[in-house]
Amino acid sequence: MAQQLRFIPLGGLGDIGRNMNIFEYGRNILIVDAGVMFPESDMLGIDLVIPNFEYLRQRKDWVRGIVITHGHEDHTGALPYLLKEIQAPIYSTKLVLALIDRKLKERLGARHKTEMHEVTPEGSFRIGPFEVHAIPLSHSIPDSMALAIDTPAGRIIHSGDFKIDFTPGSGEGPSLARLAALSADGVLALLSDSTGAEKVGFTPSEKTIEPAFDRIMREAPGRVIVASFASQLSRIQLIVDISHRYGRKVAIAGRSMEQNFEIARRLGYIQVPKGAFVRMETAKKLPPKQVTLLTTGSQGQPEAALARMAAGRHRDITVRDDDTVVISAHPIPGNEEEVGRMINRLIERGAEVIYPL
Ligand SMILES: [Zn+2]
Repeated sequence: MAQQLRFIPLGGLGDIGRNMNIFEYGRNILIVDAGVMFPESDMLGIDLVIPNFEYLRQRKDWVRGIVITHGHEDHTGALPYLLKEIQAPIYSTKLVLALIDRKLKERLGARHKTEMHEVTPEGSFRIGPFEVHAIPLSHSIPDSMALAIDTPAGRIIHSGDFKIDFTPGSGEGPSLARLAALSADGVLALLSDSTGAEKVGFTPSEKTIEPAFDRIMREAPGRVIVASFASQLSRIQLIVDISHRYGRKVAIAGRSMEQNFEIARRLGYIQVPKGAFVRMETAKKLPPKQVTLLTTGSQGQPEAALARMAAGRHRDITVRDDDTVVISAHPIPGNEEEVGRMINRLIERGAEVIYPL
């Protein structure tokens, strides 16, 4: 029988999160992404949802490589679990590899021996019978890519997550020219899905939220506490810049935010003006109007920093009535209730709450 190309999604289709796709040709498997999903409100007692690896467990020797399209948890978070069972080299862009490396060191310690290959924004590389071409696409985190995957059966375009934004807050814009060039001869299949795909029109550029943040930073009577995703580096850059404009020093509450910030700053994906960033201990001593706090927990996750502040359980930060809290992320479908409850608590504490922005 002639060999066939199989495409097998292990997660992410019909889910919000745990993105993981398999391309199989003969006895060769290429994995694209390995993400987690956050539990829905009826999944009591469950911390994290990962894809079912059973199909791969039975074909461990076939796995030639893992390509990660970008650094979000719903595309990388299952890697520590996957790599405990399957050894394969990881291919991705510079920032993504740095984020993954930190995660794997933390979770696997000395067992982390995974080979990592850096992919340049417009690079091509071979994994088994697959020739993969990277295509830079803009998203809410820099260094995101779509893939053109040449298989013996034809070319597949795998879009990854993207937002067509020619003025992203950080990182390069999308390379639609490369996407067009790689699709010019027709493709076997386009694999693309998107949250909000049913909405007509364009999502506004990251730059368009600048005026709203500018006004908040200028007018807020005290501290501005901004909750965002730790991986939303473009947004973080914007907040750092506008804070600096109004003489506010930025401090970070939340370990994942702190770690991502450090990595992105070290690699040059976030530019921090001199003196614009301070430790929490320093921020606590400054007049409130000179402080911006960047924090995690925009989805109402009970253990994230903002929910702990709302519940009065945060070690460093007590929410006060001159605080302005900005929740800078739309709730992921399913999280609305948790977010709503957290907002109520923040308002009860006297804070002005602006959401979603
Ligand atoms: Zn994403």
